[in-house]
Amino acid sequence: MGTDVMIKPALRTAHITYAVRDIAVLAQEVAKTGREMLYLNIGDPNQFDFVTPPHIVAAIHEALKKNYNGYSPSSGIPEAVEAVRKSAGRKGIRNIQDIFITTGASEAIDICLSALVNRGENVLTPSPGYPLYTAILSRLEAVENPYFLDEDNHWQPSLSDIAAKIDEKTRAIVLINPNNPTGSNCSRELLEGLVKLARAHDLVIFADEIYDRLLLDGGQHISIASLDSDLPVITFNGLSKNYIGPGLRIGWGIISGDRERLKEYKEAVNKILRARLCANHPIQYAVKPALEGDQSHLQDMNVRLTQRRDITVEMLNSLPGISCVQPSGAFYAFPRLHIEEDDNLWVRDLIRETGVVVVPGSGFGQAPGTHHFRLVFLPPVEILEKAYRQIAGFMARRSVATTA
Ligand code: PLP
Repeated sequence: MGTDVMIKPALRTAHITYAVRDIAVLAQEVAKTGREMLYLNIGDPNQFDFVTPPHIVAAIHEALKKNYNGYSPSSGIPEAVEAVRKSAGRKGIRNIQDIFITTGASEAIDICLSALVNRGENVLTPSPGYPLYTAILSRLEAVENPYFLDEDNHWQPSLSDIAAKIDEKTRAIVLINPNNPTGSNCSRELLEGLVKLARAHDLVIFADEIYDRLLLDGGQHISIASLDSDLPVITFNGLSKNYIGPGLRIGWGIISGDRERLKEYKEAVNKILRARLCANHPIQYAVKPALEGDQSHLQDMNVRLTQRRDITVEMLNSLPGISCVQPSGAFYAFPRLHIEEDDNLWVRDLIRETGVVVVPGSGFGQAPGTHHFRLVFLPPVEILEKAYRQIAGFMARRSVATTA
């Protein structure tokens, strides 16, 4: 016989939020009213005028036709692992102890954090940063230990803040480079400072480099693992952004550093990899052609993104009440709102009144007392210009309303 006793979810889910998708619910409601929507909220290039390169799609077709639909080895098919190894070598990553292919970089991040962090231990995460880390740490009953990126220094991580926040329970530092949501790309000097801190305190570095080929202004990306071959670093990357295929759900992790120090950790990662069987098998055949085939889409993408970034920074910085640090990588900007009210409220009103969808800065973390929003400058110029004109009108109406 049934009862009406409520099924209580585990407490570890209580603090899991994902601002990007949460805001989409409100956007859907507004869209139902018939208003024209301008979506600047989701970092998915395929929703705009970016297409997965055809040689990558062909490799997946071929694998499906060949019936490569059984399970693969838990670490991934050898040709994909080898392609990742060579690509890591080209970025100067040495002393590689292991490489594994996963269901998006997200799964690699989840597995690598799960294999390291115990309940009550903490991990330094960038603020602002990508909310997946918060969600996983919450699930592990571990503690997020946010460190600030310095808005006055092109959103570079603040080494003094990191140093001040390391304690005896700190296990790792997450570095998102280029960063989501700020689009900043770390300098060599900064990365060297981070390496020193990690060495001094025996910390692992989780280097999320999912945007490493999306560099504007011809900038250079440095993999932090390439700066110290003994330091334990786990580097994450995948097909989602650089290869315009987030729905392909293929990513990877690269463990590099001193073999002896990493022995037990590597085995722990592999236990989890085996238990979840494997990543999507046929799609893994896209990795080698992606990393070793025609790369011309990157140049094309970076030209278009630079143009869209320039319009974004120029138009937003011309608005009273908004200032925007110029992003140098990825496809995000994190403009500051010089307002008194909560950015959540500001964004919700913006969506309702204008149909422009962005994400509140509080969903990514920000310095106390500051307010921001994140936008994606993937849409074509006409859409961006329209959206920024809407934001200008919204700001003007609001300032009249508050000063009246
Ligand atoms: N890491 C960062 C910084 C991201 O911005 C994203 C997606 O937006 C991911 C990881 C997720 O990557 P994947 O699609 O490979 O799971």
